[in-house]
Order: sequence, then structure tokens, then C-alpha cells
Amino acid sequence: MKLTNPFWKDVLSSYHFAKPYTKMNTNELLSLDILNFVPVTDLNYYIRWIEHNVQYLCDLIDPHSGNFYTFEQTRNKLNTNNFLKYYSLVSNVPKYIKDHLKENCVNVNFDILSKRDAYLERIVHSKNVRFVYKGLVNAIISLPTEKFSKWEKLLNCEITNWSKYFIILKKSCRNSYLQNFQFKLLHRIIPTNSFLHKIKLKNTNLCTFCKIHDETIEHLFFDCPVTQIFLKSLSKQLKQYYKNLIFDKKEYFFGFESGDLLVNLISIIAKNYIFKCKLNEQRLNIVEFKHKIMWYRSLEQYISKKNNTILAFEKMWTPLQYIFN
Ligand SMILES: [Zn+2]
Repeated sequence: MKLTNPFWKDVLSSYHFAKPYTKMNTNELLSLDILNFVPVTDLNYYIRWIEHNVQYLCDLIDPHSGNFYTFEQTRNKLNTNNFLKYYSLVSNVPKYIKDHLKENCVNVNFDILSKRDAYLERIVHSKNVRFVYKGLVNAIISLPTEKFSKWEKLLNCEITNWSKYFIILKKSCRNSYLQNFQFKLLHRIIPTNSFLHKIKLKNTNLCTFCKIHDETIEHLFFDCPVTQIFLKSLSKQLKQYYKNLIFDKKEYFFGFESGDLLVNLISIIAKNYIFKCKLNEQRLNIVEFKHKIMWYRSLEQYISKKNNTILAFEKMWTPLQYIFN
């Protein structure tokens, strides 16, 4: 078999990548095709093992121990001396599959095992194949712990549950541009003069607003005396409605746990406004910021009318009339 068509090559590679990461039961794992664990370039070699009745994982597993047969135990069956190919296949099977089989194979009757590709069948017979996507995403996602520990060090705090801040972001902000901005901020990939100067793209590392201090993320968005004047004015406005709001530096950067959706959205818009003013070398102005909020409000109002979710919109935005009265 020679695979030349780029489309099918892509389909097979993606299938190969997706499959082992999907949660399966013992029977499904045992009926995985061995071709899932070999490189696409070696398919031709392993596909010939079908002639020796070796096609699925169960054909290589000792039913009594749940372990893979040793090469010595299978060489006659496979009629080969190439132990490297055999062990490279075994080593490509993920550890969690091996561990699962070792523990659970005792309960499986290999004689009546249905040898079919359960994963492929599930895809073919499912109306919704979102489980493939979810499996892939779960396999890839990881929290950028290095960036987070830098935040902890800089803000002198310990954060045990980072994912809650991503949940706050997802719930409070539906605008993909703003979501993207806050996501980048959490990951510390917002370019400030301090960074741009290091990579020689800016002549100065000094803050755009005060022109005195090093323009780091913490300085630009919070510590800068110019930003502080703007934030104090904003927090004063917010406290007209959110009486107990503590405009804490940590919560301002990551998300207000005790705040509602609106206060979190306003804080994201505020940080984005600060960044835009920095880029355009403009002064921070609370009146201009208020107009920006009103613009976002009208945008959300329009969307909510279209989606017939006007009640949820009104519930979220009602406090605004007390904030900017
Ligand atoms: Zn400054």
C-alpha cells in the first residue's frame, strides 16, 4: 500500500493522533488496530502482519498477565527476526493503555472478544463527533505554569486554582477580541516597552505614560502613577454600585472572584483601553473610557436582540446606570 494522496495521508495521521487519547474500555483498547501505534511511513511493514493473524492489540497481549508478549514468544507466529520493529511498536503504545490492560485483562474472555475498530465504529455511527475534538483538546492543553509562577512571584501571592480565572473570562466576556486580549495578558504575552527594548525594537524601555519607570506589564497596567489616577477614578465610579468592591491588584489582573460579570467585563475593557492608549500614545481619560463602555453596551444590546436574550442582557448591564450616572 502506497499512500500518496495528501488528503488521505492527513486523515490517517489525524486519526492516528486522535485515537489513543480517547477514553476507552478494556474491550475497546484490546481491539485497537496495531497500525495506530506505528509511524505512517512504516504502515507497509506492519500491515503484512495481518497474514499472521496479528492485527489488533489483543493479538499481541498475553491474556493471563495483560502484558505484551516478549519477542521470543511471538517470533514464530510473526515469522520474523526483526525484534526492533516489534519493540518499537510496543514502546509506541501509551503507558496508560499498558497499565489499564495489565490491570483489567484478567476479566476479559479473549476467545469471544469482538475484534473490530470500536473507535472507528463510534465515529461512523455517531451523529455528533465532538468527542474526537474534546479528546484531542484534552490531550494538548496544559496550563502555562511557568508564566503563572512569574505572576505569583511578581504579585507576591499564591494561586492554587488558575482555571477559575479563565472561567471568569469566558463567562464575563463574549467579545472575541477582548477575550483574546485578556488571554494574552494572563499568559504575559503583551508587548511592553521593557520587552520591546530588550529585543531591540524600541529605543526606550521607559513607560509611555510617565516616561520615568521601566514599562513592565505590572507597571503599565497598574503601578504607573498615570494609570493609577485613571484606575482610582474608575474604582470610585464602580464603588457607587459595588459598595464592597476591593480594587485589588491581583483580582484586577486576573478577574474579580466576588464581582459579577459586568465588573469583570469593565475591568477587561479598562486594561484594553490602557493598552490602546499606550499604543497610540494618548492620555487616559475616564470620559472617553465611559463612551467606550457605552459602545460595548450597545453592541451587546444589538446581539442580545438578535439572539432573543434581552433579559440576560438587561440583568447584566443594569448596574451601569449607577456606575456612570
Ligand atoms: Zn509609567
